[in-house]
Amino acid sequence: MEAVIVVDMLVDFVHGKLAAARAAALIDPLARLLGAARAAAKPVIYVGDAHLPHDFELRLWGEHAMRGSDGARVIPELTPHKDDYLFEKRSYSAFFETGLDSLLRSRSVDTLVLTGLHTHICVRHTAADAFFRGYRIVVPTDCVTAFAEAEHESGLEYLHRIYGAELTTGRDLADRWSRRI
Ligand code: ZN
Repeated sequence: MEAVIVVDMLVDFVHGKLAAARAAALIDPLARLLGAARAAAKPVIYVGDAHLPHDFELRLWGEHAMRGSDGARVIPELTPHKDDYLFEKRSYSAFFETGLDSLLRSRSVDTLVLTGLHTHICVRHTAADAFFRGYRIVVPTDCVTAFAEAEHESGLEYLHRIYGAELTTGRDLADRWSRRI
C-alpha cells in the first residue's frame, strides 16, 4: 500500500517568510496527484512544521511556521480533505517525534510517495527515516522542489542513489493508480 506524504506545503514556505519562488509550481501537479490518490483510496498524509519558540532549528532559519500561526497552515490551494491525515513536526523529518510511523503501519503502508518541500532538506530527511524503517520510496519529481534548481537536482540524485528512491512523475503515478496496478 502506498501513502502520499505532503511535506511543508505551508503558507510560510509557499507564500510567506521562507517562500521559494519555485514552490507555487508544485501546486497544480500536487493537487492532481492528491486527487488521484484519494480516488484510489491511498492515504494522504500532510506533515508540516509547527514550531515552538525555542526549537533548535530556529537558530538556523529564524522563526517560521510557528505553531498556531497562519504561516503554519497548509496553503488554501491544497486544503486537506476530511479523510486526510495531518501531523505536526518540529524538525526536518516527518518521522521525528510525530507518530507518523505507527499510523503508516496501522494502514499497512509499505511505500511512501514523498512530495512537497524541500527536495534537499525535509524531503531528504524524511526519506532517510523512511529508509531506516524499511519503507520503499517513490518521488514524483514534479511534486517536490527546493529554493534553487541545483539544490533540487542534487537532492533528487541523492534520494535515488542513497535511499533507492524511484523517481517518477505525478502523472505516471496517477495513471498507475487509475489502472490499479
Ligand atoms: Zn522548520
